[in-house]
Amino acid sequence: MTSFAVINPATEEVVRSVALTSAEETDTAIARARAAFPAWRAVSPGDRARLLRRFADAVEGDIENLAQLEVTNSGHTIGNARWEAGNVRDVLNYYSASPERLIGKQIPVPGGVNLTFAEPLGVVSVIVPWNFPMPIAGWGFAPALAAGNTVVLKPAELTPLTAIRLGELAREAGIPEDVFQVLPGKGSVVGQRFVDNPAVRKVVFTGSTEVGKQIMAGCAAQVKRVTLELGGKNANIVFADADLEKAAARAPYGVFDNAGQDCCARSLILVQASAYDKFMELLEPAVKGVVVGDPGLEATEMGPLISAQHKQKVSSYISSDSPVAFRGSAPEGDGFWFPPTVVTPSGLQDPLASDEIFGPVVAVVRFEDEADAVKMANHTEYGLSGSIWTRDVGRALRVSRGVEAGNLSVNSHSSVRYWTPFGGFKQSGLGRELGPDAVDAFTETKNVFISTEE
Ligand code: NAP
Ligand code: MG
Repeated sequence: MTSFAVINPATEEVVRSVALTSAEETDTAIARARAAFPAWRAVSPGDRARLLRRFADAVEGDIENLAQLEVTNSGHTIGNARWEAGNVRDVLNYYSASPERLIGKQIPVPGGVNLTFAEPLGVVSVIVPWNFPMPIAGWGFAPALAAGNTVVLKPAELTPLTAIRLGELAREAGIPEDVFQVLPGKGSVVGQRFVDNPAVRKVVFTGSTEVGKQIMAGCAAQVKRVTLELGGKNANIVFADADLEKAAARAPYGVFDNAGQDCCARSLILVQASAYDKFMELLEPAVKGVVVGDPGLEATEMGPLISAQHKQKVSSYISSDSPVAFRGSAPEGDGFWFPPTVVTPSGLQDPLASDEIFGPVVAVVRFEDEADAVKMANHTEYGLSGSIWTRDVGRALRVSRGVEAGNLSVNSHSSVRYWTPFGGFKQSGLGRELGPDAVDAFTETKNVFISTEE
């Protein structure tokens, strides 16, 4: 197979055929990226900053087109897709400030002067999953380019269209062709060459924990740098003292956004036993009110799942014996639809409460007290995000410190701001993206001592 038929998940229609990059073509692209590196790192900081800002402007000018591509390719709601394209613009603008701020240290030493330099790594590879094709690409390529690296990027086989367009926009903005290359193709072919080809100095991977472990093991052979953003089974902890109306009204959007295909989805709701009945009463209309349908319509809040195969995986969790409390709606007919579904398993041993289902399924489980809540939130091998709903500030901070996860929100479900760090504890990942320090992950610290002896 040399090409891949991209399918619209809302209609099952074939959108376009995309050529798949071979292993040989991948090696050629890596060689070109390596050859382009000396000139790119030598571009003056101000000029590299200007090029990144021009790239951001090109994205800004193409937001509607990028958003429509994502609606068609990924079934994202148009509102989300516009935000995602805007996020690429914002991340480029944010890291365009970095080239002029790759500041080293002058450290006092006897007999000379000691300086540190932040050196680029060389060729950086970025492997992107299908759930957020635009933002996850940008979180990798923007800081990598800013630090003076050249980049090869592989979108998910299912969702290559926006990445291909971003590659075109980079060229229109004046970024040299070999400095940023987009290589659509298979993980087992293109992604594997990123791991195995020694000219690639770093792999930035977002996707499943299973593949992430293989990549880490593969990179170990060359002590290749890795950043991993993997799965999550994130708890939304609701204490009895919380604003229950608000907690219940927001809970569906903390898990069903992007049809639950979000590593930060709060797919385990832990509710304090004394507030459980009231919370469930409030949650039902909120879940039934989620607008599921044509992702191109402005009012739509949730679209389809990404593929027939993924729908099958999500569906396998729900049978006639499942403890379903209530469900929302979903269109009939063509498209990979699955309704928002609330389940009440008896405990955390149930896969409904412990697996990353990656679809619109949320488990609600009771807890007794604060210690119990923290213990239950920490029961999984994951540790990516989570939420805490309480009116008690001390409790909010104690529980925030107790939950082993990289991104927590109190009385909110927000996880991602491009200027704050993002990443996981435990098997949810390694390293951090975004925020003021992300560029450090794309440089090596070099120490130079200069003798002043006569
Ligand atoms: P995946 O297999 O981990 O895919 C993620 C990316 O890695 C894709 O670009 C994939 O390429 C590539 N890849 C696959 N095998 C590779 C290999 N051996 N070497 C290098 N790259 C490789 O994820 P998936 O199969 O799409 O989804 C499976 C599950 O992973 C989901 O159900 C969900 O639980 C989880 N997931 C998590 C996230 C997240 O944000 N943390 C994102 C997506 C999925 P191909 O597209 O060609 O396979
Ligand atoms: Mg896979």
